[in-house]
Amino acid sequence: MTVLRVGVLGFGGLGQAAARMLALKQQMSLVVAGDSQGYAYNPAGLDWQSLQQAVREQGSVGFAEQGTLCADPIATLLECGLAVDGYFLALPNLPNTFMASVARQFIKAGWRGVLVDAIKRTSAVEQMLTLQADFKQAGITYITGCGATPGLLTAAAVLAAQSYSEVHSVRITFGVGIANWEHYRATVREDIAHLAGFDVERARALSDAEVAALLDETDGLLKLEDMEHADDILLELAGICDRERVTVGGVVDTRNPRKPLSTNVQVTGRTFEGKISTHTFTLGDETSMAANVCGPAFAYLKAGIELYRRGCYGLWSSADLMPRFVR
Ligand code: NAD
Repeated sequence: MTVLRVGVLGFGGLGQAAARMLALKQQMSLVVAGDSQGYAYNPAGLDWQSLQQAVREQGSVGFAEQGTLCADPIATLLECGLAVDGYFLALPNLPNTFMASVARQFIKAGWRGVLVDAIKRTSAVEQMLTLQADFKQAGITYITGCGATPGLLTAAAVLAAQSYSEVHSVRITFGVGIANWEHYRATVREDIAHLAGFDVERARALSDAEVAALLDETDGLLKLEDMEHADDILLELAGICDRERVTVGGVVDTRNPRKPLSTNVQVTGRTFEGKISTHTFTLGDETSMAANVCGPAFAYLKAGIELYRRGCYGLWSSADLMPRFVR
């Protein structure tokens, strides 16, 4: 396999971790990185440390050596026709329609290739579903929900379901530990949007000081239950179970990189002999959110590129395909 040319759009917590992860890969090379103020492009590969330094010291990858500052980086890099096999969209989905609007931007620009996202909400995935025919016509292979949840855990639930004749429940419980909420502003705001009294727009409108004040009240912990998470619709569409049988919740500690609890998915069902049983898949506590999101995202990107090269265009999800390990 030739080295796949990969772009990462959004260079916050996940985007930076993604770039660092790619530096260890032989089969993929980071050629584009973009954020809200600019982008950097180098067909021979970008250095993640210089990108990170540009973000840390000047606020954007546009300040890096191969960088360009511009008002609408996604539109600009699409106009430039950069040679890229696929992008990981590590962008905030704020507002809740943002990722779908980015997908439409790619379609409108006549871009061809592979896109993966790590969006989380059921309503966000529903917007992607309306673009199925447009992706197909445009020659884009789009895989949605490729993070940890939805993503890694959804795919694990699909595998686990195979022991059963009927799946009764899928329970996803995540524990996330991050040292500082400011490393993952969008992730934390999108999680706050699930708390009682909030929605996406209210969480988006919070200033950084207001987020910090809210976290002060809870000792940095966000406890989330019965979240609107797209694992439900993805498992339903994949034919595993009705969406009502899927529940997602967890705890995010924004002041400690140690996980407050072990992330796991429990899949309960009845076997063909009539036995009720539960499979549990638990992630190692040492694996970070970044490892569990970016690894699957690139693995689905590789799977997408294989599909794309076989002429398969349209929309798939993490519950439809096996991720392909990237060496
Ligand atoms: P962040 O806030 O740390 O960074 C966001 C980045 O996007 C920044 O670099 C910002 O400049 C850039 N950006 C914003 N608007 C842009 C635009 N119009 N054009 C180009 N770049 C733009 O974000 P994060 O905490 O890394 O989260 C990214 C996304 O990943 C969130 O939507 C989050 O919910 C999702 N996520 C998914 C999972 C999962 O398991 N599925 C887990 C964690 C995070």
